[in-house]
Amino acid sequence: MILEFSFNYLSSSLVYEKIILRTAKLFSLESKIVKNGDELFLYVESDDSDELENFANTLSLELPHSIFLHETDARVVDEMPEEFFVLPEVPKPAIPFCPQCLGEVMDESNENYYNIFHECEVCGYSVEGEKKSYKESLVNIAKSISDDLVVEVDTFYGKYYLGKLDEKCNGVDFDIISYDLDTIAHYTNATNSEIVALGTIEKPLIKLTTNIKFKMDFEDVKNELIRFKIADDFVLHLLSQELHKLGINLIFITKEKLPCNVQLDLVKYKKESEPIEVVVSDKHIVIVKGEKGLPYDNLGNKALIPHIGAFFSVIKEHALFDKTVVGVNISKEYHNDILVYFKKFGTIEYLSFEFKFHSIKEVLDSIIRTDETGAKLVENFKNKFPKHFETISDIVFDEKDFNVYKLWGIIAIVLGYSKEKDLTKSAKILENSASLFLGTKGPRIDYKLKSINSKVYLDPLMTIRTAMSFKLAQIDQLTLCYGVIESFVEFISTQLDEIKAEMKSDAVVVTGSLLENRHLFSKLSKEVSVNHNLYFNKELPVDGKNIQYGGNELF
Ligand SMILES: [Zn+2]
Repeated sequence: MILEFSFNYLSSSLVYEKIILRTAKLFSLESKIVKNGDELFLYVESDDSDELENFANTLSLELPHSIFLHETDARVVDEMPEEFFVLPEVPKPAIPFCPQCLGEVMDESNENYYNIFHECEVCGYSVEGEKKSYKESLVNIAKSISDDLVVEVDTFYGKYYLGKLDEKCNGVDFDIISYDLDTIAHYTNATNSEIVALGTIEKPLIKLTTNIKFKMDFEDVKNELIRFKIADDFVLHLLSQELHKLGINLIFITKEKLPCNVQLDLVKYKKESEPIEVVVSDKHIVIVKGEKGLPYDNLGNKALIPHIGAFFSVIKEHALFDKTVVGVNISKEYHNDILVYFKKFGTIEYLSFEFKFHSIKEVLDSIIRTDETGAKLVENFKNKFPKHFETISDIVFDEKDFNVYKLWGIIAIVLGYSKEKDLTKSAKILENSASLFLGTKGPRIDYKLKSINSKVYLDPLMTIRTAMSFKLAQIDQLTLCYGVIESFVEFISTQLDEIKAEMKSDAVVVTGSLLENRHLFSKLSKEVSVNHNLYFNKELPVDGKNIQYGGNELF
């Protein structure tokens, strides 16, 4: 009998290929791997069906979940394929421990028990060190953390400061390492898909809302999302194990230098590398930050490229050059637009989100000038919030590129949710408020289009106007902020349907750091994939700012 296992696996790390080949060697059966783009196939043949079943069971234990794995399947087929895949000789990316190495390091009878340097051809950070148990050092560091000290720890990818979650992390920009997935599920609103992603071999960071009661006046953090992860190297994993024995399941980890007297410097890491952060919906996972373990981590020499580079990097990763592809670029920093790529005609900018204002006063004056309703709205707003109106009228912007995110920043200032002049910081307040909203539907905020010199733009004034009128109607901050983001996704979704009807587009590519927003990503992933083939970057962060890309080959 011949079994075919198929994996839709969007990674070039070779983790699956190597584990499959390693596992197949342990059995007396014939096996072959075939690769076809993102599809990875494994064929195994044996006359002994027990042997095949044993193999399938062992493989499912050996293969870790991966953020790059989308679908798996198994079926009986008639014949073995002719061709087969040969492992290329390429350097191993920096990948956290595989299930086999983890088992050995945790096994008291194994020679690699508590050996932080243990790794194999699949996993690890390629750092050499003496093969021995490092248990004593890790027990001592755990004891120090338990005694309320901050410790400086050299992990396999950089130096960090760790400690208990209490007043020590006041004002510090930190992430949280959890002992296990149950603890994260208990303290956050993580969805099942997010929990699965946190447990993958890549061990990514995910931003979550938490109900952890910190032992202090934690005003700021109450409104913040915090990034969580599971230990992603053996130093942190074994330290988590020791902390768990002392009743500590969560610790903070930060790059910020904190005063401390205790050090753990067993590892001489080769290079500093930022761990990856992902955003997860029930259908898609995208990388929003970081480079650890990704192919371009090894490229060095990073170059800044415009948003078009991010669009084409997705087209290239998914081999969409023969299609008509719509690109939605929603970066927090750069220009935003919707592009359409045609194989025959090249690329056009279908819709631009560009606009420009110098001050809040200019925004309000423009609304007054638009029409009578606008003038009346600003008048009512001024009468209802006279002091606030006066304060914001003085605010002047210091911005180069205006985009959707900055528009949200203007809204947060006009509605009085932000005391900041900085539009990016103000937009973050709007985002955080939306993330705390517990309902399912916000008010409908208008995103309308206008034409200037036969080019189509988003009209920012209409969006600001509807937000102001809902504020006057006493819609609360969380609901209103949620509506601003939700309505934007609905607007994008409608635009994409219209473009498809008009231009017969085959695929939609979405790029840009606005995808970091959990609600936006999850809603977009769900709604847009109903009518479109939706693609994101595979192994690159969504904003493209660290992507080195030779643009010439594209056009
Ligand atoms: Zn391993």
